[in-house]
Amino acid sequence: MKISARIASSRPLATTAMHGRVETLRNEGQPVIDFSIAISHFPAPRPVLDAVNKAVERQRIMPYTSVVGALDVRADLAAKLRAENGVAASPDEIIVTNGAKQGLYEALYTMADPGDTLLVFVPHWPAYVATSQLLGLRPILADLPEEITPAFLDGLGQPDIVIINNPHNPTGKVYTRRELEHLAAWVARIGARVIVDESYEHLIFEGGHVSLAALCDWRKIGVVTLFSASQSYAMMGWRVGFALAPAEVVNAMQTLQGPITAAAPHLSQVAASVAFATGAPRAMMADYRERRDLAVRLFAEVPWIVMHAPASGPYLWGDVRSLTLDTVGFAEALIEEKKVAVMPGEALGVPGFIRLGYISDDVPTLCEGFRRIIEFGEAFAAH
Ligand code: PMP
Repeated sequence: MKISARIASSRPLATTAMHGRVETLRNEGQPVIDFSIAISHFPAPRPVLDAVNKAVERQRIMPYTSVVGALDVRADLAAKLRAENGVAASPDEIIVTNGAKQGLYEALYTMADPGDTLLVFVPHWPAYVATSQLLGLRPILADLPEEITPAFLDGLGQPDIVIINNPHNPTGKVYTRRELEHLAAWVARIGARVIVDESYEHLIFEGGHVSLAALCDWRKIGVVTLFSASQSYAMMGWRVGFALAPAEVVNAMQTLQGPITAAAPHLSQVAASVAFATGAPRAMMADYRERRDLAVRLFAEVPWIVMHAPASGPYLWGDVRSLTLDTVGFAEALIEEKKVAVMPGEALGVPGFIRLGYISDDVPTLCEGFRRIIEFGEAFAAH
């Protein structure tokens, strides 16, 4: 069968590939503890479920909405942006997408031509690089510093597009207002367009979330901000998020989205308009915080792993550079021998680290998984 050269030269997302291995083993009847991605064990917030049930009962027929999303839903999202993010936007500057992933693809497709450069900080969410490769862009990887300063930014050249992930997967870094101000001034000066992925805006333990769009002239610079219901409201499978962008970018994204998926599913749009109005689910955040603290306490005893408590997010990012094997080898051996899946840092652009999503299983299973990692790693620790 002919497979186009375009896709034959691309590889599946590393995260999807590892999750596929987990599913294969599970289908063979081998239980696996999966830390490779973060799938919340919480359901969608109650008000979301109630609103969706009511919509199904009342409406029964779910129409196609306009490609950008139903107007009342976009008006609700504009109200959320005003209230939570301090951004004044009109519904014409919002497009509802099938998750942030679709928003990312559409924003890059719309704002960049093949060959354009795209600055991505590492470690990075794998989809940034995978998407840029699908579109023939040239990713430039730069280490994410502990603090973004004007001097650091001046050393980064002149990329066409800059991707910021705030709060950051996998390190949990929450950008400060000052750092965002430096970023805004720099991109305005060099004429780069920006994509800011704020999918984890509510999963913050320390610090507060600031939207880049609240600090700059986002229409003039060309800033697209991506939001997602997946992580902030535990709604991964609902496949819904939205993008805030200048109206002409929204129009262009719509031209692309129309023939591919049309609008996001109407039910998920209804769900999103309620979810984004509910704020951070408190019980969920309390649960995540407890798990995070438990994990950090456990790993603090282990000499070959260095792990700081993340300020945000559902991941732990462990420095295991002292091990005597590379992290791809470590992850492969760990899943085969101990039935525990982790994401090797290579997949996120930084070998020598592992990422653990800690929000999926119950706490005893979580502890059992950590125990197996610690026991397994001991054999490769340089004593
Ligand atoms: N952005 C980042 C950085 C993520 O890690 C995730 C979840 N893995 C998302 C976005 C969510 O994407 P989506 O809305 O397509 O589920």
